[in-house]
Order: sequence, then C-alpha cells, then structure tokens
Amino acid sequence: MSSSLIRKCKACSVYTLLPECPQCKGPTSTPHPARYSPMDPYARYRRALMQEIRIKS
Ligand SMILES: [Zn+2]
Repeated sequence: MSSSLIRKCKACSVYTLLPECPQCKGPTSTPHPARYSPMDPYARYRRALMQEIRIKS
C-alpha cells in the first residue's frame, strides 16, 4: 500500500512524501499511526498493559 508513504505537516495540513514540509520546512509525520506489525496491531498496547500489571503487582 503506497498510502503509508504519505506524510502530513501538522502546522500547514499539507500532504507530502517528503520528511520535511515544502512550505514551512517543519517535520512531517504519517497521518495514521504506524503499526509495528500488520498481523498484530495491538501488540504495543498489550505490551504496555503487561508492563503496567507488572509494576502494580
Ligand atoms: Zn508546514
């Protein structure tokens, strides 16, 4: 999927493929959060939850 290459400047709401904004030269980011694994998009949340449980117990 090429849509994951699309980046966006939060300041100007400009979409670009470049890591920096063509308008304000600020850093761009992917509009959708990157998944660590397409097979398990919630792995990071589970890992965080398990760490929380370990700290509490
Ligand atoms: Zn910008």
